[in-house]
Amino acid sequence: MDKQSATKRAEELHALLNTYNYEYHVLDKPSVPDTEYDRLMQELILVETNFPELKTADSPTQRVGGVILDAFNKVVHKTPMLSLGNAFNEQDLRDFDRRVIQAVGEDVQYVVELKIDGLAVSLRYENGLFVQGATRGDGTTGEDITENLKTVRSIPLRLKNELSFEVRGEVFMPKKSFEKLNEQREKLEEEPFANPRNAAAGSIRQLDPKIAAKRNLDIFVYSIADLGGTGIERHSEALDLLEKEGFKTNPERRKFASIEEVISFIEGFLEKRSKLSYDIDGIVIKVDSLAQQDELGFTAKSPRWAIAYKFPAEEVTTKLLNIELSV
Ligand code: NAD
Repeated sequence: MDKQSATKRAEELHALLNTYNYEYHVLDKPSVPDTEYDRLMQELILVETNFPELKTADSPTQRVGGVILDAFNKVVHKTPMLSLGNAFNEQDLRDFDRRVIQAVGEDVQYVVELKIDGLAVSLRYENGLFVQGATRGDGTTGEDITENLKTVRSIPLRLKNELSFEVRGEVFMPKKSFEKLNEQREKLEEEPFANPRNAAAGSIRQLDPKIAAKRNLDIFVYSIADLGGTGIERHSEALDLLEKEGFKTNPERRKFASIEEVISFIEGFLEKRSKLSYDIDGIVIKVDSLAQQDELGFTAKSPRWAIAYKFPAEEVTTKLLNIELSV
């Protein structure tokens, strides 16, 4: 591709991805599946790799998340809420593993977690009390949704100990609650939500907390943003602490000592995925040691010590499995 056609294609991709981002993050009403969005994003990354001068500061490849709605007070995150790098196949995972081992120069243990398909939130506790909750927003600034988050029963309002920290997690709508909600909406001749993720995002950003309270939302927490001074040395220890303090963490997490074990775990989940009571859109792989995480650091948009393996679209997975089973 020459420079002229690359510039034209980059412009087209900017326009498409900006539209899809708006529909997804602001309207909670996507017009294309996530796999199509991811495919276009990968195409833009490739164009920018070949023509680095096209990687402008406002490119969709350089931005985290969505737009902050004016109706809410704004919250500036003390620690930015970043995105995750993506892997789409085994090769991407092996490349990630190679980069990690090269950077830290020693053995690595990985924590593998389900990638819950919901909305990222931050929960701030002071002396054991829940004081503020926010959306990820654009990664630097989010929306204050404290009152709505207080209606999520699995979020503890008081911890067992008087801890002060910021917890990160994913608010989601269980599949059953989503089906019920859409049935009700259809009866009332209201437009149904496209999927549980959009229903969760639309519900937690309601101005009236009474509406959020009726939507049966749930949460899995997956990290503590500010671990300094806690004495914790591993991500897995942080998850154990969260569990002890009364948070809901995902029980499917595992620890592995090699990327091959991680890949086998992912293969197992291609089939298990549809049996879960909530939607997942991938598997997140994180370096367990916090010292190694520090050595790896961050890019502008995501940590170098983690990656999200994205599942192929569910219909494709089923087809692949059918072919495998019938061979
Ligand atoms: P991402 O979804 O690829 O990954 C980052 C997010 O994963 C985190 O912010 C967090 O919310 C979530 N997450 C879930 N479980 C986690 C866990 N265990 N540990 C850590 N994080 C976990 O990146 P993104 O920037 O949030 O969103 C981009 C994605 O959104 C795209 O890849 C696409 O799939 C989707 N999208 C779709 C459209 C569309 O039109 N269909 C538009 C925009 C974005």
